[in-house]
Amino acid sequence: GQRLEGKRALVTAAGQGIGRASAIALAKEGARVFASDVNSKALATLRDEGHSGIEVFELDVCDGQSVKDGVARATPEVLFNCAGFVHHGSVLDAKDEEIEFALDLNVKSMMRTIQAALPGMVARGTGSIINMSSAAGSVIGAPNRFVYGMTKAAVVGLTKSVAVDFIKDGIRCNCICPGTVESPSWHDRVTALGEELGSYDRAMEQFVSRQPMGRVARAEEIAALVIYLASDESAFTTGHAHIIDGGWSGQ
Ligand code: NAD
Repeated sequence: GQRLEGKRALVTAAGQGIGRASAIALAKEGARVFASDVNSKALATLRDEGHSGIEVFELDVCDGQSVKDGVARATPEVLFNCAGFVHHGSVLDAKDEEIEFALDLNVKSMMRTIQAALPGMVARGTGSIINMSSAAGSVIGAPNRFVYGMTKAAVVGLTKSVAVDFIKDGIRCNCICPGTVESPSWHDRVTALGEELGSYDRAMEQFVSRQPMGRVARAEEIAALVIYLASDESAFTTGHAHIIDGGWSGQ
């Protein structure tokens, strides 16, 4: 189908994982996709796959000028703020520098991209902003996700605030709360936990067993929700946190 024909979509963290799957899915639905990331090598592999409708460029969501340049290039109707990082540990493990880093990358980054993109959306009278939150945080407490959960819960507040302030301007703003999703960084987390537990298989079992479906999500399954929220099919939906977690929090 071509559910996004004619729309321009800017995706952050599109080099791998959910961002990459979403960039590809958006392009398949007819959007003109601006796929950005700090990792130029990852972007190069996406470019080399030769998807039509995808333009790749470097954009660091922690750098205000880089965000302004990227938004000026994309002039997006759809903004998917996907960049984020997972810190491991409880409140007693949390270090100031981890909190500063996570607040900047997981939360303030979205403020930056929205401040850059929103005036153009308001001027054109249309826009869909999709922010990456997580089931871990405001939906469910996940073990050893203190810094992460705190910042991902903040994304929900940020989302609702933008939604209510610009609803009369034709702007929608929603966020996505996935359970565990297979991605390069998730594989790194399984490996790290495996080293801690002395067994990769036990680490994998811990991650998979908390998902009642007995498996983690594929990035493409999250991308399908991104497509829905980006398209006019979701025209009556704004200000919500959309849970997509394989039944993790719904039991
Ligand atoms: P990932 O963690 O494997 O990849 C993250 C990407 O972000 C990388 O390509 C990296 O280069 C990019 N990035 C890092 N810093 C950046 C910056 N300053 N500017 C731009 N890009 C930057 O991918 P993933 O696991 O699919 O995670 C994507 C998002 O989804 C994150 O926000 C994550 O918190 C969220 N999420 C992931 C899961 C999961 O289980 N994988 C679950 C819920 C939410």
